[in-house]
Amino acid sequence: MSLPPFPSTSGDKPADLHVYTIEQCQNCSQKTKRDFKVGDLVMGEAGICEKCQGKKTIISIYGEKDLTKTGRRGLWPR
Ligand SMILES: [Zn+2]
Repeated sequence: MSLPPFPSTSGDKPADLHVYTIEQCQNCSQKTKRDFKVGDLVMGEAGICEKCQGKKTIISIYGEKDLTKTGRRGLWPR
């Protein structure tokens, strides 16, 4: 098996794109938004809820423009 040549994008990274992971507790439905980490998978386990000690699952991963310059929007994506 051979991997196709992957174009190097190290010098062309969209630095203003920020990737987030949304977790949701299966017990109390509390949602948590945090920075994406390598290894995160949608529907993967995300640890323990700080609120109720229930099991959290990753329900969504998305990227958005880094808005730190203009301030955070309070809205979550649909
Ligand atoms: Zn919980």
